[in-house]
Amino acid sequence: MAQIIAIANQKGGVGKTTTAINLGACLAAQGQKVLLVDTDAQGNATSGVGIQKNNIQHDIYNVLIDDLPMTKVILPTQRPNLAIVPATLQLAGAEIELTNLMARESRLKASLAPVQSAYNFVLIDCPPALGNLTINAFTASDSILIPVQSEYYALEGLSQLLHTIKLVQKHFKPSLQIEGVLLTMYDARTNLGAQVVAEVRRYFPKQVYQTIIPRNVRLSEAPSHGLPVIDYDAHSKGAAVYELLAKEVLAAHE
Ligand code: ADP
Ligand code: MG
Repeated sequence: MAQIIAIANQKGGVGKTTTAINLGACLAAQGQKVLLVDTDAQGNATSGVGIQKNNIQHDIYNVLIDDLPMTKVILPTQRPNLAIVPATLQLAGAEIELTNLMARESRLKASLAPVQSAYNFVLIDCPPALGNLTINAFTASDSILIPVQSEYYALEGLSQLLHTIKLVQKHFKPSLQIEGVLLTMYDARTNLGAQVVAEVRRYFPKQVYQTIIPRNVRLSEAPSHGLPVIDYDAHSKGAAVYELLAKEVLAAHE
């Protein structure tokens, strides 16, 4: 059965999508079967693995709102072992439409149930909000991976995120865990970076990954080529660190 991991932080631009794509691709490169689920209407994970949005017939919206089976929307990517459930702009409507549906918080969970045995990992790329879509992601997940940008105010908003996790544990998913906290966009040239790392490690004594993701221009270029960084520049620092993160995540589940 797949380990289902939501990659979440309601702050935008902290590296959720970059982590979903590149952790997914690196797990796939290490022989794991991976399904990436894009739940952000921006569809950055979708385009980031090379799916042209104007060629998409159905997406996660149709699964969540129209009860289309998940099998009808899963697309292969050029990276072996890595498949994606795409998102397009129509998903923006789901945030409100979900409110009026039965079992609105567990629709993603229900739709994943028939397919999850085909994968080792399902990674859900969450939108930058704590609304219905993120609640669906949490309810569907075994654990949550929280990317935190190594910047001033890194911890800002995290208490709200942890509160939402507690609410989902209480009402929908008692077994929901924190998979890990990932420091992203680290800049070794500044003192600030090191201070933030220390602060985040104090706040989450046991949950911060050893692997820290530095700022790396290859990581920011790769999506415009529709490729995970290991396929865009296998020898980049960005590729190396996401390979290390994949090993850390794998080791946690062995
Ligand atoms: P989120 O999904 O949390 O909004 P993204 O993963 O889309 O964040 O990252 C925001 C922007 O920062 C994107 O343009 C992305 O390419 C860039 N980026 C993310 N991680 C890095 C990194 N480690 N180094 C350089 N650029 C990065
Ligand atoms: Mg994103």
